Amino acid sequence: MVLISCKNCHKVYEKENYEDFICTRCKHKVTRRIKNSLQVSLALVICAILLYIPAMVYPIMEVTKLGVQIESTILEGVISFLNMESYFIAIVIFTASVAIPMIKLVGLLFIFISLKINIKMENKTKNLIFKFIEAIGKWSMIDIYVVAILASIVQLDEIFNIKGGIAATSFALMVILTMIAANRFDTRIIWDE
Ligand SMILES: [Zn+2]
Repeated sequence: MVLISCKNCHKVYEKENYEDFICTRCKHKVTRRIKNSLQVSLALVICAILLYIPAMVYPIMEVTKLGVQIESTILEGVISFLNMESYFIAIVIFTASVAIPMIKLVGLLFIFISLKINIKMENKTKNLIFKFIEAIGKWSMIDIYVVAILASIVQLDEIFNIKGGIAATSFALMVILTMIAANRFDTRIIWDE
């Protein structure tokens, strides 16, 4: 007799063996472990980290200063908002589009690597880090909302324009890949020997 829980709704079943079955409560396919979960999530995180670079390096917005349009990257944008004494906007942009994605990527990479090589750390701590990332993950869509809202507000002022291009595309892809990586990761692996 084995015990197996549904990863979606956490209902626990008593089964004869680890064969796949459909959860009677939520219709989710219950498997012992999601196949290649660690490898796929790790690959997605590495892709997302690579995308983080063009998102930061290439210009993502146009800031109009004294009638002159200057293309600027996210960080340059934050600095110009600081110079304009729009501290709140500067902090919101920095947190949502620089800090949160970085914390998530570094956290996930750390957990995945710690499972590949044996880092002396309590499994509970790893689980805690993952739970934390999942929790801020719920707020991570903030980056997209912030950019969208700012684009519509500030475009009226004609001070600040979000332009498309490499940086914006990389940024959006990075957010999406990070979400899939965290979502697809089977936390039960943490407890495997
Ligand atoms: Zn279920």
